Amino acid sequence: MKHVILPIGSTEQHGPHLPLGTDTYIARRISEALATELRVDLAPTLSYGVSAEHVGFPGTIGIQPETMLKNVEGISESLFRHYQKVIIINTHGGNTSTLQKLKNGKIIIVDLFHTLKGILENLRETDVGGVCHACEAETSLMLYLTPDLVRKEKITEDIVKYVPQLDPQSKSPLPNGWKTINYSQSGVIGDPTKATPEKGKKIFDALIKKMSETLKTFLT
Ligand SMILES: [Zn+2]
Repeated sequence: MKHVILPIGSTEQHGPHLPLGTDTYIARRISEALATELRVDLAPTLSYGVSAEHVGFPGTIGIQPETMLKNVEGISESLFRHYQKVIIINTHGGNTSTLQKLKNGKIIIVDLFHTLKGILENLRETDVGGVCHACEAETSLMLYLTPDLVRKEKITEDIVKYVPQLDPQSKSPLPNGWKTINYSQSGVIGDPTKATPEKGKKIFDALIKKMSETLKTFLT
């Protein structure tokens, strides 16, 4: 029996320069590459996620965590009629804790932000302490994957200089229940002015390599 990938992104503000579907585009492209590499099938991409932190900006369309759980459970149930394992490729940080609840022997969760640890440190010039939104890394990926959808003239940095003042003791610089609009007027968290398509290619290639190596151990 074959396995199948279910890409999950979000529809939410990504500053003035990136499209609302940024996470969804990235999820799709990563999943396409992995499906080819691992010779598994690919289901349609889920474009709505848990986006509570971005509700202050127009264009953000979020769903409740319980809705996401029910949705993904229902989709997986259908997929299990024909597939042995469902591999979820999640590219939106707001979905992570909800999706982890579904993890079992048959549903495998591969999370973009977990995978980026160990990759970004060598590639990016800016680090805003774990929080990254429409930032150097995400903008680099989009400049590489979908350059026509990036409004290059609107790229500006934001929040990067304010984050260290919020809570210097905490691992995450932002408190629970944080809202982007309270920290960033543009919706950007990070410094996308340092983004390049070359960095995007390096990040993408490293992600595919690391994700496919991890997945091979689950799929044998
Ligand atoms: Zn994003």
